[in-house]
Amino acid sequence: MIYDYVIIGSGIIGSCVARELSKYQTKVLVLEKENDAANGQTIANSAIIHSGHDPKENTLKSKLCVEGNKMYDKMESELSIPLLRTGGFVVARGADEEKLLESLYQRGLSNGVLDMSILNFDEAKKLEPLLTKDATKILSLPSTKVTYPWEVAFACLENAIKNGVSFEKNSEVTGIKKVDDIFILEINYKTQVQARNVINAAGVFADQIAYMIEKDIKYQIKPRKGEYLVLDRKAKNLYNHVLYALPTSQGKGVLVVPQVHGNVLIGPTSSLLDDKSLVSNTSSGIKQIQTDVKRLVDHVPYELNIRTFAGIRASSTFEDFYIKESIEYKGFYHVAGIDSPGLTAAPAIAKYLIEQVISEKLIKNENFDPIRLKKKTFYKMKDEEMKKAIQENKAYGNIICKCEKITEAEIVDAIHSTIGNDTIKGIRKRARAGSGLCQGGYCEGLVLKIIARETKQPLNQINYYSLDTPILVKETKVKS
Ligand SMILES: Cc1cc2nc3c(=O)[nH]c(=O)nc-3n(C[C@H](O)[C@H](O)[C@H](O)COP(=O)(O)OP(=O)(O)OC[C@H]3O[C@@H](n4cnc5c(N)ncnc54)[C@H](O)[C@@H]3O)c2cc1C
Repeated sequence: MIYDYVIIGSGIIGSCVARELSKYQTKVLVLEKENDAANGQTIANSAIIHSGHDPKENTLKSKLCVEGNKMYDKMESELSIPLLRTGGFVVARGADEEKLLESLYQRGLSNGVLDMSILNFDEAKKLEPLLTKDATKILSLPSTKVTYPWEVAFACLENAIKNGVSFEKNSEVTGIKKVDDIFILEINYKTQVQARNVINAAGVFADQIAYMIEKDIKYQIKPRKGEYLVLDRKAKNLYNHVLYALPTSQGKGVLVVPQVHGNVLIGPTSSLLDDKSLVSNTSSGIKQIQTDVKRLVDHVPYELNIRTFAGIRASSTFEDFYIKESIEYKGFYHVAGIDSPGLTAAPAIAKYLIEQVISEKLIKNENFDPIRLKKKTFYKMKDEEMKKAIQENKAYGNIICKCEKITEAEIVDAIHSTIGNDTIKGIRKRARAGSGLCQGGYCEGLVLKIIARETKQPLNQINYYSLDTPILVKETKVKS
């Protein structure tokens, strides 16, 4: 089969592009090198749907951020994705920072951000009780919100699959050539896939993909690491807004971000890397977070810190999103340099690519169904809903993850859903089992057994994360 479009990468960009293309009559295949969608930048970021106050004026970043922010409201109702409407506060301390705050306000106006205002300390402190006593003026951004990033990617991809798109995981693109009008993609150094068009949405690896076919690339990815601390759900309600310091050349700096499930993120740092896969935390990174966060709040309950993580931004030498057709190879599209605000801009990036960059005239898919349903999370159900759920399926009555109150039924659903998964981390991403205070210490063994039972695999073949990462290596007590 020759596909009309092959998309390389199933992060938020590949997934949104797949959904957007499924609105047209096209044969689309998404290829992902990992054993799950959304394992790159899309799983390790601040989860903020930014207002658009920060990107430089007249860039694709500013235009698509503001547009993307608005599009999330429709995606919430169509795709059952969570959105927490926190609003954002940018904090200035003293006269010099107030001047920068004023220029940020002007930039926001020029980017088309709605409903901004500048608050004084007393007004802001009423709304954000732990705000630093050093704050003098605060830019309020009511359209800032927070989501659950990989859930958005799953939702878009599931909806795309419902509308005819194909998805292959464990499929690394290892070579690309063009013969006549057809691109031939080599997968895992073994098999081949053919396509009339290719969309490069490979995140930090986008330049490596581009070099598989082109010689003269207009961007290089400059990976930039961001480290975080995560506070347990007990920190819920301590902070009400996304709290930003004033941006610097390094980016938006360390933030305080309330999350949709009640956790709080503190971070990220920003350090340039040579290695695109170095997602480890460092003691210097953690110290920097603890120092920088004092610019925002007077108190952080570090005793509630349950984990740390790091993500790698696909920043590029081009310094704006690079969304263009290849000059040398018609039908090869770069969607590259998608660092922050890429999560926010993703739906607008997909629309822009298809409506303004892709040259061929696509025919509408009249049967496109925009709806993706997701069952309500058990712990968010009312008592009556819980009773009904247990009556219909007894597995709702078996709590597997005690910290987050995740039931066996939700874990079974996560395994068998449209893009289900059979790894411990895959289940954590979908059902949140193991995301709480004990970080899976109690439930991981139980989740392992459920995966083995449901997928009919031996226990020692269940992977933690990617291929060949089994948790149980061999039996230590063998019955004689
Ligand atoms: C620390 C940090 C904080 C951020 N905070 C925010 C924020 O709060 N708000 C916001 O709007 N944006 C934020 N961003 C930016 C946002 O996360 C990214 O712009 C977005 O996730 C990019 O998605 P993507 O699909 O391009 O990349 P990715 O999610 O990295 O996806 C690329 C995919 O391509 C796959 N791939 C790579 N090579 C191959 C190959 N050879 N074959 C097949 N598949 C391949 C990868 O495995 C991966 O799944 C942040 C980013 C970071 C790192």
